[in-house]
This record gives sequence, C-alpha cells and structure tokens, in this order.
Amino acid sequence: MTQTDTRLACFVQAFLRQREEEGLLRHLASVRHLGQGRISVGGKALLDFSSNDYLGFSDHPALLKGAREALEEWGTGANASRLMSGDLEIHHRLEESVARVTGKESALIFGSGYLANCGILPALCGHGDVILSDRLNHASITDGLVLSRAKIFRFRHNEMNHLEELLDRHRARYRRALIVTESIYSMEGDRAPLGDLVRLKERYDATLLLDEAHAVGVFGASGSGLAEESGVAKDVDVIVGTFGKALGAYGAFAALSYDAARYLVNKARSFIFSTALPPPVVGANLAAIRLLEEEPELRARLRALSRECRSRLREFFGIKTPSQSQIIPVIVGANERALVLAARLEEAGFFVRAVRPPTVPAGKARLRLSLTAHHTREDINRLLEVLADGL
Ligand SMILES: *Cc1c(COP(=O)(O)O)cnc(C)c1O
Repeated sequence: MTQTDTRLACFVQAFLRQREEEGLLRHLASVRHLGQGRISVGGKALLDFSSNDYLGFSDHPALLKGAREALEEWGTGANASRLMSGDLEIHHRLEESVARVTGKESALIFGSGYLANCGILPALCGHGDVILSDRLNHASITDGLVLSRAKIFRFRHNEMNHLEELLDRHRARYRRALIVTESIYSMEGDRAPLGDLVRLKERYDATLLLDEAHAVGVFGASGSGLAEESGVAKDVDVIVGTFGKALGAYGAFAALSYDAARYLVNKARSFIFSTALPPPVVGANLAAIRLLEEEPELRARLRALSRECRSRLREFFGIKTPSQSQIIPVIVGANERALVLAARLEEAGFFVRAVRPPTVPAGKARLRLSLTAHHTREDINRLLEVLADGL
C-alpha cells in the first residue's frame, strides 16, 4: 500500500468504527419493488410503508407508456446540458405542463430536487444577502445555503415569531433577503404556515422559496402542492417540486415568473453545468402531470386515509404525532427502541423505516409511516395494532 492508501484506510476505518459503536452506521441493502406497494427485502415480500411513491405512479401504465414513447422518439439521453445541445422540445412541453398546474408563469426543470436547491439558492443570494431558513429544512437546502455564501439565520421549526424577530433585527443590514421553507416537512409530516410566511416576506421585502417535495401530487385542487391549496401560489416567488416522489419518476422543477426562469437559466450553476434530464424520464414526468389532472380522486383517497390513520393513532392508541399529511412519524425517542419496533413490524409483514440521527435530532428517533394510494384501511389498522402492542 502506498502512503496515501494507508492514510485513507486509517480515517475511513476510524469513522466506520465510531458510527458502528454509536449504532448509527448506515448501509445499502438492495430491494425489489413488486408493484402494488409491495417490496421484497432480503427475499421477503413486505407491504411498503417507507416509499415516497405516494400516488403509486411509479408502476402506473401511463408513466411506463410515456417513458417508452419518449425513449423511441428522443433516445436514451439528452447528450448535453440545455444551454449546449441538450434542449429538446419535450423539456419545454414538461415546463409548460408544470407552469399550468402550478399556476405560475413559467417553470424550469432541474436534474433533481437536490440539484434544484443547490443551484437556485446561490443564484438568488450571495455575499451581502441574508437567508432565513427553517431549522428542519432538507439537506439539499442546507447545502444550497453553504454554496450561496450569504449570511444564514436558522429559525426554530415553523415558529413565525422567531422568524419575525430575526427579520426585525437583521433585515436592514443586508441587500436582499430570502426566506426558505418546505411546505410539508419530510420527517415531521407537518405543514408550514404559508399565509404567515407570505405576510412576513412582504412586510420585510424578502423573496420566498418554498420546497414542495412532499406536497406535490398530494395537496391542491390540481395536485401542485400546498401553496395551491392555501391559495398563495401567486405570492410564493419560487416553488420547488420534485418528480421523484409522488410523481413517480425523477427530476425536479422550479415554478416561477417568466423573468425569474430566464434569470436562473443564466445563473443557476446546477442547471447550466449539468446534462439535461433524459427523454424517457421527461416522458414519464409528462404522463405523471397528465394523471394528476385526470385522476384527482387518487390524492383525495390518500388524504382521507392519512386523516383516518392520524386520528386512529391519537384516539385509539394515544400516540401523538406532529403529522398533518401522509407522512406520519411515530416518535419513540431512543435509537434502539425504533429499531426493535421496525423489526417487529417487519416480522408482521410491514416495511417501515426507523429514522435515527443525524437525519433527525438526537433522542427523537422515530418510525416514519409513509402512506400511499396502494394502502387500504385494513392494512393500516393491522399495522397500528402491531405498533400499539410494541409501544
Ligand atoms: C427529497 C427532497 C429533496 C430532494 O429531491 P430529489 O429529487 O430526490 O433530489 C429536496 N427537498 C426536500 C424537502 C425533499 O424532501
């Protein structure tokens, strides 16, 4: 071994040992999706309660057809970034569809939600600007903040008083201000107070970026998210959404004004310097948007199921959850306890992830139930009984 190899071996082994001792070592375990919300883990078929495929779109015939047709017509890859020779008509069709369902003037496609946040935040703010970010915002937002080089303040999760206090104290010293939040939080399943956010952003002359990753497809009359449902889509400057969760495929979008889209085409580095989304994926995304418009009953059903699950947790089992959505965390505290419960659920045929630090704060390990359109009321009742037995 060369000296460099030894050095690498040394620090990676130390890291792995430490994570293992803390019970925090993560590893990959491949699974197989069996369709209809079922998943094969280690050869065992389980009902999947960990998926973001909220509407069951990922194996929907319409998406498969959309992907296949785009593959035949446009090929496997876009071959270049949009600004080089990768800008295909099918990308524009998808952007028009997104603009239509979100009710915004324009939309711009990104490679993924991660890339969208890492590109948009530094494009909108830099040195001399200030960004106010909810403490529980997703890692892709955190990374975008770091890349921006702006001054960052984090406010306590969903606490508008804290946000206002920070704006009051610091806004005047900076050129531009941006507020960034999610709409449905991925680990709490709760909602951001969008009306208050809009009022604050207006009062303090700030821009509002809303990440709707977990709300797209589930909330809003046309399924575009919580901004639509709350009637504030026109007041949110930039809505970020992903195609990788409820929409069943991959990629992301920003829905925004025509000029803001043109600005990002010139400024967002993750847009400029990355290959355009492959045509089969764009074809699937187009089909997903079409389904959103054609089958509103899917999201209505999911929301009814989620409501029922939350109220059963509360009323029959006395379990508190912060959830106001299809993401329903059952917070159990210790890492070990979450793991034991997850194992017990697996025995009973359910795939539920135990979410532990650093994904969530220390002492807040949880089982994260993620409901989808494939689940039935009976499935959920059986799961809750196993869970209540173990709690
Ligand atoms: C999943 C997620 C992302 C990342 O989206 P991808 O398309 O999976 O890269 C960004 N923001 C939030 C809030 C998310 O939950």
